[in-house]
Amino acid sequence: MKRYGSYVSSHECDMLIIGAGPTGLYAAYYAGFRGFKVIVMDALPEPGGQITAMYPEKEIFDVGGFPAVRGRDLVDGLLEQANQFKPTYLLGEQAVELATDSEGVTVTSDVGTRVRAKTLLITSGIGSFTPRPIPIGQEWVGNGVVYFVPRLADHAGKDVVIIGGGDSAFDWAWSLQPIAKSVTLVHRRDQFRAHAAMVHKVREAGVRLITSAEIVGASGDTTLSQIEVKLKADDSVETIPADSVVAALGFIANIGPLAEWGLNLTKRRVEVDTTMQTSIERVYAAGDITSYDGKVPLISVGFGEAATAVNNAAPHIDPTHGVFPGHSSGESPV
Ligand SMILES: Cc1cc2nc3c(=O)[nH]c(=O)nc-3n(C[C@H](O)[C@H](O)[C@H](O)COP(=O)(O)OP(=O)(O)OC[C@H]3O[C@@H](n4cnc5c(N)ncnc54)[C@H](O)[C@@H]3O)c2cc1C
Repeated sequence: MKRYGSYVSSHECDMLIIGAGPTGLYAAYYAGFRGFKVIVMDALPEPGGQITAMYPEKEIFDVGGFPAVRGRDLVDGLLEQANQFKPTYLLGEQAVELATDSEGVTVTSDVGTRVRAKTLLITSGIGSFTPRPIPIGQEWVGNGVVYFVPRLADHAGKDVVIIGGGDSAFDWAWSLQPIAKSVTLVHRRDQFRAHAAMVHKVREAGVRLITSAEIVGASGDTTLSQIEVKLKADDSVETIPADSVVAALGFIANIGPLAEWGLNLTKRRVEVDTTMQTSIERVYAAGDITSYDGKVPLISVGFGEAATAVNNAAPHIDPTHGVFPGHSSGESPV
């Protein structure tokens, strides 16, 4: 039930960060490092954004300093780094209303929490994300059909069918094939969107690839999570048994209430200048939510934007603060 008509709790801080994905967590560290009191709000019950929700077990290869890091481990490291400065986390709360004045911002959540902050940093990524459904009954979701694979071990020793032809589908196929009894990947086209190298590895690993086939239904026993997946290719229907089905058809992203906050948007992303300030003073944005020419939505880019945003917000929080903080090592080479 929405209760934001009357406030159930209120907080004050120097910087409110909306979104506890990798960008928001790194920003929480950085703002803490600069001596600011920070609150981090996220609609999800767990921090980590897309990483926690979609690929906690996957290895990430393009974050500076880590030749390879498991998603879950990167989030743990970000939390440890941020938590040195004891930010307050408001998890399971969606930011729904924004009011601004010359002294700061007031954000209200869907459960009625009000946060008064000198500055706001929006790190809300692609917004709230919901998986694209597969066309079988809802009764299977959670009873054999999953949209996320938070723990690979849940699929150990099972016949797994993965639906999709993109990077997520192939990443799951690659991660699950050593521990599952069998892995079958089904895609409606005969070309894949996933990286060619990963497609090659998965093929070589013996994963069965069924192409030009669409899932059209399922039968079986929901209580036993035993599914017979019906696939249609040309005019024939094939039924394959599965203990678990991973639906990896992508996600529908919705930036939700932020779209109504009066920020300048391009294609449902928040426009920022080179300091990461949005069209509203004291309101900054970083990470996947930002839009500017040449934007690349990667974790490493979000980290850089977070540092730029926090440092440029610093003089708004305390006019005695400059933009450049010096180096965290305490040693400036200049
Ligand atoms: C399968 C997959 C694999 C990927 N692999 C890589 C990779 O190898 N390397 C790489 O660099 N990138 C990768 N990415 C992209 C990377 O995950 C994103 O660039 C990164 O997560 C962006 O971080 P963020 O913190 O900006 O946003 P997000 O991770 O999207 O986090 C945003 C958070 O904001 C919250 N939020 C949204 N709206 C509100 C609101 N109104 N109120 C409160 N909370 C809100 C959301 O719940 C979410 O937790 C991958 C993405 C996917 C889906």
